[in-house]
Amino acid sequence: MADDRVLDAREVPLGGLRALTVHRTLPHRDLPTIGAWCFVDHFGPTTESMNVLPHPHTGLQTVTWPIEGDIRHRDSLGSDVVLRPAELNLMTSGDGVSHSEFSVGDPDAPMHGIQLWVALPQESRFVPADFEHLPDLPRVSGDLWEAIVLVGELAGATSPARTYSPLVGAQLRLEPGRSQVPVRADFEHGLLAVDGPFESEGTRVEHRQLQYLQPGRDVVEVLVERPTTVLLIGGEPFDEELVMWWNFIGRSHEDIEDARREWEAAAERFGHVEGHGDQVIPAPPLPQTPLKPRRRRV
Ligand code: MN
Repeated sequence: MADDRVLDAREVPLGGLRALTVHRTLPHRDLPTIGAWCFVDHFGPTTESMNVLPHPHTGLQTVTWPIEGDIRHRDSLGSDVVLRPAELNLMTSGDGVSHSEFSVGDPDAPMHGIQLWVALPQESRFVPADFEHLPDLPRVSGDLWEAIVLVGELAGATSPARTYSPLVGAQLRLEPGRSQVPVRADFEHGLLAVDGPFESEGTRVEHRQLQYLQPGRDVVEVLVERPTTVLLIGGEPFDEELVMWWNFIGRSHEDIEDARREWEAAAERFGHVEGHGDQVIPAPPLPQTPLKPRRRRV
């Protein structure tokens, strides 16, 4: 069984020109997934903006959670939504979708948020593409903690967001002291330090780090010294081998090659996002060696 671990973030420029710097903790060299969560990008607080032209996805759901600042989402399904703090965007790619994301409002206002991906399991990889904007998510609280449930269920509160594997995602607001948040013992979990350090399981976790917690506990204990926001993610350990490259998730090198070729050919599979003319983000070249699944090493 895997050990608890603290994962460092690496900085990645998102969206080409005028890129926004994101702090990525998943996938990690040693840990491809926590439950079916396979991608965690934390951005800001920053006065940089999000300027992400149309780009494709396959095999996943994107989960977008702004903490400060508004984001306009447009996609190939015809959605055009301004997403505000404490609201969730959930886009299911199935076999193909494309979208764009741009900051809106005062360009000097700070932006802060998290974007995550959830891998679709084999039997749901080809579900129809879908988009949900969920402005009113359930809240639940306990002693010294309060949660907004983004996906799945926490402490009896269940999000309406549609998911395809046993999963939880919640924003925790913690008051100084030791909080005990009830969780499912069959889930593994991750705790992202969104706006400051915390301590959990005797380990200090610094701002932007992600703590991995193995299954087998029915509470997650978190100690903070001042009011602190932590993102909790978790799920049943995901045992399928994923091939992840650029914005695609597949099961083989060929899956990725096909998706890349079809995006470059503007194939029907990915549709068209209105409002950007012919501008899209081109796919980078594939690496020389065949893509392989990332294996768990913790
Ligand atoms: Mn995207």
